[in-house]
Amino acid sequence: MEETKEAMELNLGLEKAQPCGEAASPGPLMRIDIMTLFPDSMRVVLGESILGRAAAKGLIEINCIQIRDFTENKQGQVDDYTYGGGWGCVMMAQPLKSCLDFVRECAGARRTRVIYMSPQGTKFTQEKARQLKDGYDHLILICGHYEGVDERFIEACVDEEISVGDFVLTGGEIPAMAVTDCVCRMLPGVLSDEECFTGESHWEGLLEYPQYTRPELWEGRSVPQILLSGHHANVAKWRRKQSIIRTMKRRPDMYEKLVFTEKSDKKLLAEIEKEFTQEQNEAEEGQE
Ligand code: SAH
Repeated sequence: MEETKEAMELNLGLEKAQPCGEAASPGPLMRIDIMTLFPDSMRVVLGESILGRAAAKGLIEINCIQIRDFTENKQGQVDDYTYGGGWGCVMMAQPLKSCLDFVRECAGARRTRVIYMSPQGTKFTQEKARQLKDGYDHLILICGHYEGVDERFIEACVDEEISVGDFVLTGGEIPAMAVTDCVCRMLPGVLSDEECFTGESHWEGLLEYPQYTRPELWEGRSVPQILLSGHHANVAKWRRKQSIIRTMKRRPDMYEKLVFTEKSDKKLLAEIEKEFTQEQNEAEEGQE
């Protein structure tokens, strides 16, 4: 096992390895350890762009750890046949537990949450990402593969199971990257301004308004004139209205949960209702 640990020290970290056992002080705002059978491809994706820059600045630390390095099986086996029969193999508890113990030891004392990526978990949402960001500074994300992982490991070691949606993927790597990306982009300093994410879709139960960039006219389609007016208050009002309309039309399930208390919103709602009735009347007249 000592040999494995040495190898892991070199493997850890996208930018800089956190020396094993050393207190993470002051350390990154968020440390995410991803346990996977495919660390190389994950490192490439997570090391680019915004997250790559945040890691370089020391705001976050993302480590992708090879579970296979922790197997005690001579052939390097990490999975085996399902008891009771059936298609596919199941990941064994031992390499997962040894890997998890090692990661915990490396991270030291932090507010840690151990999460197994699973189609059977609670659905991942912006709100869930916020809770993880605010409640913890260390996430351990475990990626299953094949048929999944031995249930006893989940019972013994996992705090929570998270699903990225009601569909089944071949592995937990893409879900783990989605969780990592969503949580990290909300940390202070990762994006240029908090406004970058607070005004976005799903932040307050609304979808975002439509966005445009240059040129003003593209293939016969122009940018809404109000956005070129330079009148900030009117632009903000237009955007709010578009947000409400989009949510209403595209996500009635989200719209149903909204409570509008602001006078300005109530005024917008009255406007929207009036416009809808007008549109409906015109459509009916067109049919006659
Ligand atoms: N037999 C399992 C599915 C295994 S899929 C079942 O029917 O529930 C293999 C691995 O992919 C899982 O262990 C999990 O880590 C990951 N995975 C698949 N779909 C996922 C999803 N929607 N959300 C999160 N992880 C998922």
